[in-house]
Amino acid sequence: MNKEYEVVIIGGGPAGLTAGLYASRARLSSLLIERGIVGGQIVNAERVENYPGFPEGISGFELGQLIHQQATKYGLETVMAEVTGIELQEKQKVVKATEGNFIAKAVIIASGSERRKLGIPGEEEFTGKGVSYCATCDAPFFREQPVAVVGGGDAAITEALYLTKFASRVIVIHRRHQLRTSRILQEKAFSEPKIEFLWNSTVEEIEGEDVVKRLKLRQVITEEKSTLELAGVFVSIGLKPNTDYIKSILPLDAAGYIITDERMETEIPGIFAAGDIRRNSSRQAITAAGDGATAAIYAEKFITE
Ligand code: NAP
Repeated sequence: MNKEYEVVIIGGGPAGLTAGLYASRARLSSLLIERGIVGGQIVNAERVENYPGFPEGISGFELGQLIHQQATKYGLETVMAEVTGIELQEKQKVVKATEGNFIAKAVIIASGSERRKLGIPGEEEFTGKGVSYCATCDAPFFREQPVAVVGGGDAAITEALYLTKFASRVIVIHRRHQLRTSRILQEKAFSEPKIEFLWNSTVEEIEGEDVVKRLKLRQVITEEKSTLELAGVFVSIGLKPNTDYIKSILPLDAAGYIITDERMETEIPGIFAAGDIRRNSSRQAITAAGDGATAAIYAEKFITE
């Protein structure tokens, strides 16, 4: 049997959770569908230091749990399932998921993004055996061992700094000669004695036996090839939006992000998008939460008008 709600929210990161809080406080019957763990990408953050209201910082996991608890208090329901598509009917939307279909008057898409892969030999084979996409999850496995981080953005440098608490050496491998990181993170990374940089370099292959043993590298300017012996490699090269399940009904930008207006509404009336999944999102927990609140406010207006 199809269950009916006024609002169905897809994704339980800060955007979806805040949309759930606002929708349920507006007395709309609201369902949140999450496929993994409530909190989204922030659960990977050991400490979130820029979410207002927590002067000492807060663990990403705890922040996710707290917003969920707050929304549930006002009546938000949650189901753990993967959404496979949305069907548009005349007066309603049918959200199709692995646990059944859910009928909604308005839908808020907040399914965020996932880590990009390098797509090189050895990456898939050694995932979980030395290849990782989450330092806060896996860093303790590399105590007093050398590791590398691939990437030059905020996430890569945050991961590298975290890894210094465990690893003996942290080698940041970046394809250019300049980081695209905030100044505060750069200053921290350049003054950290355990962090080394390999500039203008790419990883061509990950090799090992049962676990990762070495990387095959290429210097992109000199074309020189080299080998780096280590125990682990953390890939941190950006994010890919989770929009595959809606690309047949919604126009996306070239990188796969959803285009919305300032009310977070897409070109389909009653379908909203919030957080990292939106084109030009600032990709911060607080801006995602703001998007979620805006989306829920205009979803309520859409339903009542
Ligand atoms: P990002 O800013 O897009 O950086 C991705 C990095 O990976 C870039 O340095 C890029 O190189 C490199 N890269 C991309 N594809 C590659 C490939 N195939 N091979 C090798 N290198 C590759 O992504 P992010 O660091 O994941 O951050 C995502 C968003 O979250 C950003 O908006 C960021 O500000 C935010 N964030 C903020 C914090 C914080 O405030 N503390 C922490 C984490 C993330 P190029 O530089 O050459 O393009």
